[in-house]
Amino acid sequence: MVFFRVPQHLWRDYNWQIKNRIKTIEELQKFIILTREEIEGIKRTQGLYPMAITPYYLSLIDPEDPNDPIRLQAIPRAVEVEEEVQKFGEPDALREEGEIPGLTHRYPDRVLMTVTTFCAVYCRHCMRKRIFAEGERARTKEEIDRMLDYIKEHEEVRDVLISGGEPLSLGNEKLRYILSKLREIKHVEIIRFGTRLPVLAPQRFFDEELLDILEEHSPIWINTHFNHPKEITELSQEAVDKLLRRGIPVNNQTVLLKGVNDDPRVMLELMRGLLRIKVKPQYLFHCDPIRGAVHFRTTVDKGMEIMRYLRGRISGMGIPTYAVDLPGGKGKVPILPNYIIEREGDRFVFESFTGEAVEYVINEPV
Ligand SMILES: *Cc1c(COP(=O)(O)O)cnc(C)c1O
Repeated sequence: MVFFRVPQHLWRDYNWQIKNRIKTIEELQKFIILTREEIEGIKRTQGLYPMAITPYYLSLIDPEDPNDPIRLQAIPRAVEVEEEVQKFGEPDALREEGEIPGLTHRYPDRVLMTVTTFCAVYCRHCMRKRIFAEGERARTKEEIDRMLDYIKEHEEVRDVLISGGEPLSLGNEKLRYILSKLREIKHVEIIRFGTRLPVLAPQRFFDEELLDILEEHSPIWINTHFNHPKEITELSQEAVDKLLRRGIPVNNQTVLLKGVNDDPRVMLELMRGLLRIKVKPQYLFHCDPIRGAVHFRTTVDKGMEIMRYLRGRISGMGIPTYAVDLPGGKGKVPILPNYIIEREGDRFVFESFTGEAVEYVINEPV
């Protein structure tokens, strides 16, 4: 894109990227000829589902292509607020909001902490779209302490998932505080960050102090969110590499999105690209029924077709678990294409990766 004649040292500066986020029609029109649907979308989503796009993420858009996959994820469209979309889904379909603000304790061994409503980019398909309207606010120390107290009191919690908003948008000192307090709790074994910064503003990971903090509180894992091969760039690769060198594994959660990645070949290219940068594809989520985002949903048949296509074309390492998150907070469930064509007792007929029916009698081990 022509626009960014910005010196390298600024382009590589996370704070510059955040300070220069594009939030208005006028700014955006300097770079892209907006469609009527987008202009109307930006106007009508104001206050409800606002827009913000880092210059870096914007630079990945092909301005000539109205269906560019980055564009669809970042630029509001009027459909988000139209009746046909608004009448489906719920703001909090997965019942994340509970007694303690910011804390969701769904599975016995894991809790989810949401520590801020701020995000580098407000993804149009966000599962927490309901929080956009709250403005950009990090949780206070008191709110954080309340969550930490809960975790301290619940010895069954071994795994803490810190999300947002964008959790790594918090300043280093606040992150250090949360991590050191969590590490004082003996039963907390694993800490994970759900962060999209490797995709939206990878420059955050060029901060050696942040990397030091993460490394000091090991074991820490990163769950990130690449949705399209175009998001795999030199800079995102550099960010991932910095994390891996500090002993922080990076796993990916893709969301199946209509028009963005609901194509077997695109998904294969994404998974191959992720393996190339040593990111493990963990989940492929079916898009949740979130109010204001249901226009991104496709069918479960499409998801299964994609999973079938991947098998045999990429290493098992590159195949994510396709899953739906059940409504009402009932948890995630994996969905697999069916490879058992017939079964009678020990006699199975399987479908091989080439589509061949193969009989296999599997006896009980002697
Ligand atoms: C998804 C989720 C988790 C983590 O689940 P994993 O399968 O371990 O990644 C934890 N808590 C909540 C509320 C979740 O939605």
